[in-house]
Amino acid sequence: MAIVGGGVTGCACALRLAEAGKRVRLFEAREIAGGASGRNGGFALRGGAPAYDVARRELGAERARAFWVLTERYLDRLEQLAGDAFRRTGSLRLAADAAERKELEAEYEALHEDGFAVEWRDELPETLAGRFEGAIFHPPDGSLQPARWVRRLAARAVEAGAELREHEPVDALDVLDAEQVVIATDGYTHGLVPELDAAIKPTRGQVLVTEPLERRPFPCPHYARHGYDYWQQTEDGRLVAGGFRDKAADHEYTAEEATTPLIQGYLERFATDLLGEEPRIDHRWAGIFGTTADRLPLVGRLPGSDRVWVSAGYSGHGNVMGLACGELVADAILGASAPELELFDPARLLGG
Ligand SMILES: Cc1cc2nc3c(=O)[nH]c(=O)nc-3n(C[C@H](O)[C@H](O)[C@H](O)COP(=O)(O)OP(=O)(O)OC[C@H]3O[C@@H](n4cnc5c(N)ncnc54)[C@H](O)[C@@H]3O)c2cc1C
Repeated sequence: MAIVGGGVTGCACALRLAEAGKRVRLFEAREIAGGASGRNGGFALRGGAPAYDVARRELGAERARAFWVLTERYLDRLEQLAGDAFRRTGSLRLAADAAERKELEAEYEALHEDGFAVEWRDELPETLAGRFEGAIFHPPDGSLQPARWVRRLAARAVEAGAELREHEPVDALDVLDAEQVVIATDGYTHGLVPELDAAIKPTRGQVLVTEPLERRPFPCPHYARHGYDYWQQTEDGRLVAGGFRDKAADHEYTAEEATTPLIQGYLERFATDLLGEEPRIDHRWAGIFGTTADRLPLVGRLPGSDRVWVSAGYSGHGNVMGLACGELVADAILGASAPELELFDPARLLGG
């Protein structure tokens, strides 16, 4: 078996296959967690890119429910595997204005109706009050130190017998001496299967990290404006803030892994505004994730192929979904395809 990509998806898949006794080689062009898995905001959230009420509308109640249940199960799995790289903090979705508050109310109602844990928050802490018009708290969610987590996952895969080959880009699939091949390259998917390049749009996310702060007003992942603004504080007190992709329209649909003055300017002003003073910025970076037309990943065998599988296109929500889909695609290769995978069938966007 060969896996292309050494992020959360590839490592989760490698671990599962190696534990099942398969001979597994994982190829990573850079190093483990060198892609989005080591560059993200560290939000480990249940669900997918759409809010729950929207998913119910788009997918139907039963499928949306099964999707959310799957990700809650994988949050538990993440907690089991990640050790101190994961903290079960919950997360706070905030309403930036009255219109967004209505949307939060709809999500709250839908989650509540279907029996998921969720809390409505009108009373906001001092740093948020006056700025946001209410929030919902998602108790099962958590905060990740993403690179530490994925390196730990990779180490488990090695212990189980997988071979990880870093700094080995794969240029073509037919040169791989493997019965089955899994493409686990999310937003870095390029040049191996033309249909995948067309279906998965590289999307840039930018982040900044401040100096350690004495105050700790943000103990869990916070997000607003439909996730376009997101922030949290690390264990050593640094504010990690990301987003504002919508301010540059199509420019952020790019595979260029570079920060830009425009987005970084938005992030700096946002951080200053949140904190009430200008913080020192210690780190900045960009990473690429893969977006699909329906914001659901492509997970399963490629139509028309008896050998090539994919798990990619999480549309900005790959931390929990990458673990889930990496394992589920491995299970499918092993002959035990989970019913949830039907929702992510690559054929729906690739034809076939
Ligand atoms: C700035 C930013 C913030 C984000 N925030 C969050 C968040 O808070 N919560 C969340 O759930 N998701 C978030 N995401 C999305 C999430 O990080 C990704 O969806 C997830 O990490 C994807 O994991 P992956 O293993 O599938 O892909 P990646 O981690 O991107 O790994 C793919 C790997 O494939 C390698 N590769 C590509 N082509 C080849 C080749 N030909 N040969 C060998 N190797 C190759 C790349 O080098 C890369 O390391 C964010 C993404 C970014 C960029």
